Amino acid sequence: TIAFLNGEYLPLSEARISPMDRGFLFGDGIYEVIPTYAGQPVGLSGHLTRLANGLSAIEIENPFDNVQWKAIVLELAGKNADFIESKNIGVYFHVSRGTDAKRHHAYASNISPTVFAFAFEIPPPQPEAKGDVKGFKVALEEDKRWQRCHIKSTSLLGNVMHYQTGVKAGVDETILFNQQGLITEASSCNVFMVKNGIITTPPLNNELLPGITRQIAIEAFKRAQLPVEEDWFSKEALLEADEVWLTSSSKEVAPVIEVGGHIIGEGNAGRMWEKAIKAYHAYKFIA
Ligand code: PLP
Repeated sequence: TIAFLNGEYLPLSEARISPMDRGFLFGDGIYEVIPTYAGQPVGLSGHLTRLANGLSAIEIENPFDNVQWKAIVLELAGKNADFIESKNIGVYFHVSRGTDAKRHHAYASNISPTVFAFAFEIPPPQPEAKGDVKGFKVALEEDKRWQRCHIKSTSLLGNVMHYQTGVKAGVDETILFNQQGLITEASSCNVFMVKNGIITTPPLNNELLPGITRQIAIEAFKRAQLPVEEDWFSKEALLEADEVWLTSSSKEVAPVIEVGGHIIGEGNAGRMWEKAIKAYHAYKFIA
């Protein structure tokens, strides 16, 4: 497949960066993943705004404007369409602070960011019938990450360790709760639940990533007149929910059928999920 590194397109197998890159040594960088289907990106402006916000939060100058970033997304999706038959293509962006002569913690001022991007296959769009969709099983544990989870940092060790809890339990993801027992998000997704016909997702703060799929989904539900609220809910409320969903760029809106060994609802995708995924598909390309 074809990648992008510091202004050039090249085969991914030929891309090289220095081991002195601060992205490698410190995880000092910001990343994004943008889904595209048959060349059409979803949520591009939201992803580029979040990238700009993350770079600004860690004081890295944004190396490109949105027109340039958009061109990279479309170029990589186009160039890799020959390699990825399904044309369901995720584009990954990674901006690190750059390569320094020495390893020292202080931000270096005289280095320029390393910009890397590549394309990879993502799952097809979710089906709209509950009989056709994969129901996710997830683990549940206390969120042990840092207090800046709103920044899409390339330092993902906390997330990786939480994800691995799920892998070890033989499930697909891990949902997290904070010290107050309130749900924050999952290790690589946002979380929604449905109770008595009301859809709820935690509000944005420093404890969770402002997911672009989450935002598109909220707007799509409002347009479809599905009742949706941003509010905290406890892990106990999650276990008693009628439905639980995960959202992310690659999963879209995905039903969860089991949390920590506890069956959710009737153990399959729910009726509200069917309405939700239809609303999401109807809106995702215009968001
Ligand atoms: N939360 C975390 C921790 C993530 O890594 C991700 C990204 O995949 C999400 C939520 C979902 O964000 P998005 O919908 O922008 O993909």
